[in-house]
Amino acid sequence: MFSDIKFEAVSSISYLFVCLCFCILGLLTPGKACASGANYDVRIAVGRSLSKVRLDGRDMLVLDSDVGDVLLKTSKTLYVYCGSRGLKIRGVKVHPRAILIRTASAIKVNKRSLMGNVEIRKHGKGMLVVNRMPLERYLMGLLGAEMGPKWPMEALKAQAVAARTFFMHRRLDREDAPYDVSASTLDQVYRGIALESDKTRKAVEQTRGLVLTWANMPAETLFHACCGGRTHSSEEVFGGKITYLRAVDDPDCSKCPKHRWRVDLKLSKVSKKLVSRGWKGTIGKVKQKKGLLVFLGPGGRKLEMSQVDFRKLFGAVLIPSPWFVASQNGDTISLHGRGSGHGVGMCQWGARGMAERGEDFRSILNRYYPGCKLRKLF
Ligand SMILES: [Zn+2]
Repeated sequence: MFSDIKFEAVSSISYLFVCLCFCILGLLTPGKACASGANYDVRIAVGRSLSKVRLDGRDMLVLDSDVGDVLLKTSKTLYVYCGSRGLKIRGVKVHPRAILIRTASAIKVNKRSLMGNVEIRKHGKGMLVVNRMPLERYLMGLLGAEMGPKWPMEALKAQAVAARTFFMHRRLDREDAPYDVSASTLDQVYRGIALESDKTRKAVEQTRGLVLTWANMPAETLFHACCGGRTHSSEEVFGGKITYLRAVDDPDCSKCPKHRWRVDLKLSKVSKKLVSRGWKGTIGKVKQKKGLLVFLGPGGRKLEMSQVDFRKLFGAVLIPSPWFVASQNGDTISLHGRGSGHGVGMCQWGARGMAERGEDFRSILNRYYPGCKLRKLF
């Protein structure tokens, strides 16, 4: 059974390559498109490093992924645990390294509703859970999680194209990895089928098969929640220059709740966090220069850290973006910031603002990915 699945995976990847090459190189006439495009499957990492997984679904067929044996068929809640020898399931004597769960209807994994097949694999010390489903269906749920099921139609369409392209780009990079995309902000957020709506379904259908290309390949269409008035170039944030990820002015995201924000941090809290970077003792002064924070302590101690790294240290929940001006007042530093997210590529709140004043998804994509071409792959 599993060998069939592996074969499908391999053949669909090769097919993707062939399809991409043929479509992108223009060997297929525009509009004719790859007929099986809708069959692209996405492998989404919906859970990582887990010690326990709860499964709920009707007529769940549980197979040993490696040998293909049917281990169990049940409609009862099923718990899977990670043991030292393999996966442990009540009532199953063997300890497989990986299991595949098939069901004709929706399946809940740790109470999150998903469609398609679910594979649970021992990975390092925990379990990796990968949901495999058709690309276009995945996008319908993704739009609800990344933007919101009720956002303006043209913004949702721009997001559908950006997310479809982002997946194509990641997939080419991760051919040998056990999944294509993670379900968190590490890649793009996916919270299952519960966030699909009529609007998100329509946005995906109306942009079916459309991707952005650069030099005949899927572009790296990064996006973020809100830029706060101007986006940032890829080299400012990630170090590498990507021609179409430029800093552009954005007057359309002012309704974002994080357009401007302020966070106050006690220096005692900061010094504790900096221990992981080799810092010892108290912080006397904090200075800021060219995207760097400079911490000064007694005895001439000094530590420089980029604002991007500083945000990583405290987490994106506490510090919405790396774009802030720091000021010190006694034992507190105040961060006066703008935007939410890394600030590179499409600003989702800006896309919403543009859609609200009547711009279409093409002009939204044009602003945030200048020079990229819109192509229909299927
Ligand atoms: Zn913006």
